[in-house]
Amino acid sequence: MSSLAADLEAAARIGADEGGVTRFAWSPELAAANAWLVERLAELGLETEVDAAGNVLGRWQAGEGKAILLGSHLDTVPRGGRYDGALGVLAALDVVRRLREEGVEPRRPLWVVSFNDEEGGRFQTGMLGSRAFVGDADLDDWGRRGIAEAMAAAGFDFELLPEARGIDGVGAYLELHVEQGPRLEQSGVELGIVTAVTGMLGFRARFLGEANHAGTTPMEHRRDALAGAARAVLALRDEARAREDMTANVGVIAAEPGGFNVIPGAVEFTVDVRSPTPTGFERSDRFVRETLDAIAKEEGLGLELSETHRKEPVALDSELQAALEQSAEEEGASFTRMPSGAGHDAMVLAHYVPAAMLFVPSRGGLSHCPEEFTSPEQCELGARVLALTVRDLLA
Ligand SMILES: [Zn+2]
Repeated sequence: MSSLAADLEAAARIGADEGGVTRFAWSPELAAANAWLVERLAELGLETEVDAAGNVLGRWQAGEGKAILLGSHLDTVPRGGRYDGALGVLAALDVVRRLREEGVEPRRPLWVVSFNDEEGGRFQTGMLGSRAFVGDADLDDWGRRGIAEAMAAAGFDFELLPEARGIDGVGAYLELHVEQGPRLEQSGVELGIVTAVTGMLGFRARFLGEANHAGTTPMEHRRDALAGAARAVLALRDEARAREDMTANVGVIAAEPGGFNVIPGAVEFTVDVRSPTPTGFERSDRFVRETLDAIAKEEGLGLELSETHRKEPVALDSELQAALEQSAEEEGASFTRMPSGAGHDAMVLAHYVPAAMLFVPSRGGLSHCPEEFTSPEQCELGARVLALTVRDLLA
């Protein structure tokens, strides 16, 4: 078994949970995984630190200038998989091991990181560690979520979170991750070079019609809010199907008053649209507003529309994409450029330094579950391509 495969096995035993892994932010399980990682980093001769935000860092302080930062996260969703996050951290460790074995003398520092609380499941935060690392700690918002108590129980001080800022020493960030979707496997391609992390836009919509008798009201006189919502669901789906740069989902819907024999007088539903490009994002935004408006008019309904969240798409660095592509070619690996439909620490870092991501396939497109699987060979290939790229960047 390769060192990387052995590390993946060892890490998966920490917080093992009925075939999956559970390691929440600030939990004893994550602390144990972090302690294990610190030992591995120290074995390779790195200077180790667990910073004020619970990020684990290992520093190879060679050469001059800003560091190349490699990593991902060791926290998980409830009963998550063994690869989401862990692969990126352990591949970073593997890169250091390879470079040490090859006797490479880096001309700039190389750092490994495991960001804390990427998943954000415990306090609905998400990317807390990387946000603190770039100096974007939102103490007002985080303070309201009960994080201070959890931090104190884990031996950390909420007020010190801003001290985790470490971005100023970083020159570039690279992250290997499992795809968490089916595209690579379905197309038989070995690697995905990520172009952008998708933008996410959420709405809460409410169509207002008129509740009335389902038997006596003539069909042409009805103002049926659910019929309007049904049209909206299909219009969104059809638009997203016809385009390459958009996904759309209506995941929650409720009709009022909710009577078998009552025309729905009001319907409330959510809309989740995503796009990896700024133009696609803007077009999707406009499509939702104009389409719901038009349906409301045609159906004689009122419309209340409010935005629930807006995260613009983040482009990843084109030079680093080219560097990954060259390394993939050197390894004889097949690859494709693709956006990421899920959020990652790289989208936080990308606002500050050139950032890149490399995907390996997820069997069956499954992730955030115990069935998550990427073969040892696929993990190994990703780590080798990452190592080649890093060696070039350090030269
Ligand atoms: Zn992840």
